[in-house]
Amino acid sequence: MQLHLYNTLTKRIDLFTPLDAEVVRIYSCGPTVYDVAHLGNMRAFVFTDVLQRVLREVGGYPVRWVMNVTDVDDKTIRDSSVGSAKWRSEMGQQSDDLRANLRAYTGHFEQEFRADLTSLGIEMSHFAQMPRATDYIGQMQDLIREIIAAGYGYTSEGSVYFDVAAYSKKHTYGRLFTIDTENFREGVRIDADEYDRESVSDFVLWKGRKDDEPYWDFALNGEDLPGRPGWHIECSAMSKELLGLPFDIHTGGVDLRFPHHEDELAQCCAGYHVHDQARFWMHNEFLEVEGKKMSKSLGNFFTLRDLMKQGCDPLDVRLTLMLAHYRAVLNFTFDSLRAASVARGRVQNVIWDLIDVAGVPEAADKSSMPLAVAEAFADDLNVPQALARMYEYLAANADAKNSKEHAQQVLNALRSINNVLAVWSFSPRPALVVPNDVRSIADQRWAARTAKDWAEADRLRSELGTLGWSMKDGKDDYTLEPLS
Ligand SMILES: [Zn+2]
Repeated sequence: MQLHLYNTLTKRIDLFTPLDAEVVRIYSCGPTVYDVAHLGNMRAFVFTDVLQRVLREVGGYPVRWVMNVTDVDDKTIRDSSVGSAKWRSEMGQQSDDLRANLRAYTGHFEQEFRADLTSLGIEMSHFAQMPRATDYIGQMQDLIREIIAAGYGYTSEGSVYFDVAAYSKKHTYGRLFTIDTENFREGVRIDADEYDRESVSDFVLWKGRKDDEPYWDFALNGEDLPGRPGWHIECSAMSKELLGLPFDIHTGGVDLRFPHHEDELAQCCAGYHVHDQARFWMHNEFLEVEGKKMSKSLGNFFTLRDLMKQGCDPLDVRLTLMLAHYRAVLNFTFDSLRAASVARGRVQNVIWDLIDVAGVPEAADKSSMPLAVAEAFADDLNVPQALARMYEYLAANADAKNSKEHAQQVLNALRSINNVLAVWSFSPRPALVVPNDVRSIADQRWAARTAKDWAEADRLRSELGTLGWSMKDGKDDYTLEPLS
């Protein structure tokens, strides 16, 4: 099925056609591994996961998906520096080798990140690669040399900058994000990796070495410029190296449009002499928690770990993160999380009921998704509408478990939908596990009943009820069932 996707570059919904018949190439800006990712980050990763799954399941395309790991930037350097409080709370001994410290610190959070993705139903096997920026320093330096050779960069006090004014004479700076040229401060240089739209100015490609910071050697036109890459150059170099330019789709959160993506694009055009880095640029909106911007000071700042510690199932979190269209602000609330959990459980029970009748479905060669659901996914990834149509489909097929054939058909449809949503299990219903304390009370009640101590038997029955279990008496034994 053909897909239509909103493209930040053209500012409209465009028909998606792959540049290369063989495979769809996607680059997603991954995490900066200085801490565990929060819910806002998770929304971006779940959005990209849904995109690549829709391309596979609904579009029928093979996908080559690359997500980078930023393991060198202002924040990773700050937190892995000698004497950092963050290091002390997370890591062991610090070494004298600053690059080794940076690697160890970011390696720790990269592992945490991978574990979070797996909890959220994102499969590691779906990534072609998850490159670390520090493994591509040579490619970044080559790109900087090209940018300088093309006349769009200059050196100042040991650092290298992108010359926005020179670039703007031949190209448009502000293709993804409308830049108010009045804000442009010609000749002003900015070293920070992140800056706001008020600070449009020459941005840093390579930061000169500072004391107590890790650095790499860099020879540029006979000059020695030890230092480290700016954040934006990392994604330009890695995406070119691993996907080739232009590739099909570049994704990220809406906060990355400027400056990160605008600068990535400008660097690619300036140094690789292409007109486009990617044909489609897709951005997901922000996430709020309980109607407010997530912030530590408001007490509504959550990581996936925080929620899991409170007993939340990460797949309920995944479903909650998909409940708004990706281009709308998502209000994550604990009510919506609970509702998602109940809804997910209901559909899971339907799946188990059908498996009881028809057995575990085998993986299908081609999609057996109901057309109306597939059309919703194909319409700029309209997950809320796809979910609504899935519920309609289930309501219309409520009698499916009456026949094996019908049950199989509905199971195949659900399995195909789940190849995108990835929140349900298609393994047989797990055997009921009765907790030991429940079993022990049930045994006591059985003994009381056998001894005809009805008052005690009733008391123990209501105790079981409080624990969520009902006891059914047979002739020689009893059975326990969870209260629904
Ligand atoms: Zn990036």
